[in-house]
Amino acid sequence: MSGGDKLDFEIRPNPSPVAAVERAALLANPGFGRVFTDHMVTIRYADGKGWYDARVGAREPIPMDPATAVLHYAQEIFEGMKAYHAADGGVTLFRPDANAARFAQSARRMAMAQLPEPVFLDSLRHLIEIDREWVPTSDGGSLYLRPFMFASEVFLGVRPAREYLYVLIASPVGSYFAGGVKPVSVWVSPHYTRAAPGGTGEAKCGGNYAASLVAQAEAMEHDCDQVVFLDAVQRRYVDELGGMNVFFCYDDGTIVTPPLTGAILPGITRDSVMTLARQAGREVIERPVSFDDWREDAASGRLREVFACGTAAVITPIGTVRFPDGEFSIAGGEPGEITMSLRQTLVDIQHGRGEDTNGWVHRLR
Ligand SMILES: *Cc1c(COP(=O)(O)O)cnc(C)c1O
Repeated sequence: MSGGDKLDFEIRPNPSPVAAVERAALLANPGFGRVFTDHMVTIRYADGKGWYDARVGAREPIPMDPATAVLHYAQEIFEGMKAYHAADGGVTLFRPDANAARFAQSARRMAMAQLPEPVFLDSLRHLIEIDREWVPTSDGGSLYLRPFMFASEVFLGVRPAREYLYVLIASPVGSYFAGGVKPVSVWVSPHYTRAAPGGTGEAKCGGNYAASLVAQAEAMEHDCDQVVFLDAVQRRYVDELGGMNVFFCYDDGTIVTPPLTGAILPGITRDSVMTLARQAGREVIERPVSFDDWREDAASGRLREVFACGTAAVITPIGTVRFPDGEFSIAGGEPGEITMSLRQTLVDIQHGRGEDTNGWVHRLR
């Protein structure tokens, strides 16, 4: 069957998986994005044929012709999500349907074939099923899932490709903040923007990251952990970090985040934080925040806390803001109360310790 909402996956277990002892050693200290599981999922697409050849097999290199379209014109998208070990021995995912929907939206923006959402979800189930021993049971650990898709057609002409390869790999990761939550410092880049109106800012594509790396390097040169991007038109308003959305907490109790203008990635953590904050009785407002206001409100004390959020680090306090003419800190550079309480609520739901009133947690087995 091809092109439909259901595909049969051919399952070929890895004939030489990592030995249990070695796996345990790797899981003891996986870091981020360096350790990988034994398997991967691949699904092919061709115009006129639809989606076909869905497989779960040994994780292995992808042979590629040098004229493969993605290597030249960067038609590529990805997702990032985590599978958690539940207290009762099961495995859970957090809002996987939202990742599936966003993956399809990203594909649309990049003129790529859209993987049916049920097939995306099935691919996750299959990989976790076969690699379930790789889901960390350690406190704060998770199995990071990386679905991605690229133009696999061998063709140098400039047009949307007619063939795509969808791949899913997985990587066990430890707690992002192993030694406790530490506020990050951010660099306000005077030179670079990340995404412009009408561009690809709201698509989760590798190209956005490629465009952001020179600014990330600049941030590191200035001793900052991350870069914060201002809008590309006026260079005044805060868009987001290189890979995280941003929130501002004020002394009147309101929480503000920049609106989704098309240049900002619609984070699932962002959406979850807005929902949880509202359910906790807080007023959440989507409105532009200028860098000047950020600086003035931090100085006056009106701005109490600022944090960034995304799947990898969940919620990260922003302690220091540096720019070419100086720097300032928020809340003395310490993690704030609202930040930490939202973080705890979200992490507890994700790890199955908190009550999931929104039906966000999907149990796999
Ligand atoms: C993935 C991503 C985020 C965070 O999205 P989540 O769904 O919360 O993980 C934010 N900004 C950018 C640019 C991203 O790529």
